[in-house]
Amino acid sequence: MQSGYTHLFIPGPTNVPEVVRQAMNVPQQDMRAPDFAEFTLPLFEGLKRVFKTTNGEVMMFPGSGTGAWEAAITNTLNPGDKVLMSRYGQFSHLWVKMAEMLGLDVICVDVPWGAGVPWKEYGRILGADKDDEIKAVFVTHNETAAGVVSDVAAVRRVMDECFHDALLFVDGVSSVASVDFRMDEWGVDLAVTGSQKGLMMPAGLGILGVSQKAMAVSKTARMRRAYFDFEDMVNINRSGYFPYTPPTPLLHGLRASLDLLEREGLENVFARHARLAEGVRRGVKAMGLDLVAEHPSLMSDTVSAIRVPPEVDAREVLRIAYEELNASFGSGLARLAGKVFRIGHLGSFNEGMALTALGLAELALVKAGAKVPLGAGVAAASSYFAEGAQSGLRLAAE
Ligand SMILES: *Cc1c(COP(=O)(O)O)cnc(C)c1O
Repeated sequence: MQSGYTHLFIPGPTNVPEVVRQAMNVPQQDMRAPDFAEFTLPLFEGLKRVFKTTNGEVMMFPGSGTGAWEAAITNTLNPGDKVLMSRYGQFSHLWVKMAEMLGLDVICVDVPWGAGVPWKEYGRILGADKDDEIKAVFVTHNETAAGVVSDVAAVRRVMDECFHDALLFVDGVSSVASVDFRMDEWGVDLAVTGSQKGLMMPAGLGILGVSQKAMAVSKTARMRRAYFDFEDMVNINRSGYFPYTPPTPLLHGLRASLDLLEREGLENVFARHARLAEGVRRGVKAMGLDLVAEHPSLMSDTVSAIRVPPEVDAREVLRIAYEELNASFGSGLARLAGKVFRIGHLGSFNEGMALTALGLAELALVKAGAKVPLGAGVAAASSYFAEGAQSGLRLAAE
């Protein structure tokens, strides 16, 4: 047993603020009570502000982000539909796998893990698709496995340039509520997130933003679905109720989480994530380590995937951190296993946590045999928080 705090520096589930945790400690309540809607309807309005949509619908399904992926696909596509996807990390990889399991005809563009969505290649493929055979275009906004953020607006732009009619699907599981996400402005038709990342809650809610275009398409889409059917959900939600038992404690957690986000102000939340992420990046650089993200413009403000020196096994760094230092870092997923560890810096996160994460990462790295100068990462992040953060400077391209 370790004494003191257990440090959770993984990119989800994220740390749950005490007020959110307390808000979920409620007696079970009647989900058909006449006043239940007074509690639920503002939650939908709050989520719309988070997604930045006024035209779209938002829905919450019991489940996680993966369930919301499935809901997005099965409600709007037909078996055998051609869709355009790309892989640049484990989460985009898994979404492709799901699309194939559900019987879609996937055109998959593979790019190195560390690159972002290949929007230029998307533009070429969509431009050549004169008969609009491609029914949907997929983007993983923030690839949590690689610590890469992608340009969703650029994908919308290439779609518009060739007047392509496909639906735009965006995985925002590790970006929504932490980095800027503009559902209406970017013309996102299916926006997907979960409760346990930027929303600072336990896992349990799969959350979707659905455009009116996607709602219209869902009326004739023939893929099978039952539990995740949009129409049932949205019709009953309109009066503030659910087609089946909602996880009411989570809804109370969501109320508290939305209150926190609104009190801080979404734009301030994004600025805080940018500042903390940059501090972590400065720290990583001072340790002499590299990120998986190939270019500064791709570096995620919610998670940093950090390459360990070649003589070190990242699994050993993770083990030492967990067993000896009471700290969890994110592991390297799939092909990055052993080569990478990740620091999640999203949700309820602050300077003290960023410095602790860097300090413990240095310690675990050194204990695992890496030649990392102890204290260098912490010092670099501190200097940035003391001075650089005010000017909003980002690490320059090498
Ligand atoms: C966490 C994550 C998922 C998976 O979500 P679950 O809630 O674990 O099902 C999907 N995509 C991205 C980008 C994620 O970060």
